[in-house]
Amino acid sequence: MKKIQTMLDFIYKSPTAFQAIDNIKVLLLEKGFQELNEGLEFSLKKGGKYFVTRNGTSMIAFDIGSEVKDYNFNIVASHSDAPTFKVKPNAVIVQDNFIKLNTEMYGGAIANTWLDRPLSLAGRVIVQEEDGIDTRLLHIKKPICVIPNVAIHQNRSINENMSYNNQIDMLPVLTSGKEFDFKAFLASEVGVEANQVLSFDLFLYPCVEGYTWGLQEEYFSSYHIDNLECAYTSLVSFLSVENKHNINVYVTFDNEEVGSLTRQGADSAFLKDTLKRIADGLQFDVYQALASSIMVSADNAHAVHPAHPEKADPTNRPLLNEGVVIKYNANQTYTTDAISAALLLQCARKANVKTQYFTNRSDTRGGSTLGNISAGHVSIASVDIGLAQLAMHSAMETAGTKDFESMIRLLEAFYQTRFKFKKEGKYQVL
Ligand SMILES: [Zn+2]
Repeated sequence: MKKIQTMLDFIYKSPTAFQAIDNIKVLLLEKGFQELNEGLEFSLKKGGKYFVTRNGTSMIAFDIGSEVKDYNFNIVASHSDAPTFKVKPNAVIVQDNFIKLNTEMYGGAIANTWLDRPLSLAGRVIVQEEDGIDTRLLHIKKPICVIPNVAIHQNRSINENMSYNNQIDMLPVLTSGKEFDFKAFLASEVGVEANQVLSFDLFLYPCVEGYTWGLQEEYFSSYHIDNLECAYTSLVSFLSVENKHNINVYVTFDNEEVGSLTRQGADSAFLKDTLKRIADGLQFDVYQALASSIMVSADNAHAVHPAHPEKADPTNRPLLNEGVVIKYNANQTYTTDAISAALLLQCARKANVKTQYFTNRSDTRGGSTLGNISAGHVSIASVDIGLAQLAMHSAMETAGTKDFESMIRLLEAFYQTRFKFKKEGKYQVL
């Protein structure tokens, strides 16, 4: 099976951050990683491999080199969430023999891409147990709802200027009838009694498998390419590298699409706390280690668009399948600076991987990502990278098949490299 298919399968199995983290966990356990519990002591040793999750939606895994002496962290961070629609607590709307779900948009989805598609539900359901509460992941693996368009005959201007009202136009139809017990439905899906269902975090997802296309299969399309492509490629790189002299760290944070300010987001103390606990466990000075640590913030970038080439910057124009994108922004919404870019370019040279640059047009604001948010908590040299893609935040996004391999190779080189801080502006790269 082609490697890209392995990633498409991973993404299809990971419709929400809950499933993504659960699937990452399985891969880590297979490779001998040991799960830590934030509520218990971290008992760590050199040569050990560990991971810890928060909320079931954010993950930090780390691999402690067996001969690590001058401590440092090589970190790659991505995000596990994606724009979608979240089901509200009183979920059911009954209207004209339709049972609709009341939802609200999570993050900045492109609304019209969700219409007339096979949709389903995934997330978590919290159930009452005899001794307290417990979490059941829910992933309904077949299409169960649709958000239907309005016929062109009833809206003649639909192709000119349609705007979508999330409370009116974007509610999915789940079934037919005059009443519906949503909690009973959830209970039967997770195998408990209806009165055991206390609460839920459930999201819509497009129930469509990712696929490659183009005459040479040079493209692929799927939901959540932003940012499971980075979460997956960085994981593959992290798992394939044995580095005796580093502490290599794999991070994927939830809630990037809604500003990261949650208990488990990049704007939390999760990473800082975990690095401190690693330092305490191995008895080294975390601050000294941070000086020689580098963070790669990996989140996809906008490729030059086939119909709208003018949307891209005149000289920094990421093309599909032309290499890993290094992202710059003068106002530092991306963390890259000349030093961190130069350090990453050393890895790209080692791996013989092509790189290209992204900046916003100077008259466009553009997006941001988790790198600079995380840097506010863990202040280390950071570089923002990503892979070029089209239709970011569409229900189905598109990217280049070759780029996927470039990212794996570049991040393997990153995890193999040791960066030693000598003084401001000077690093030894080993
Ligand atoms: Zn993203």
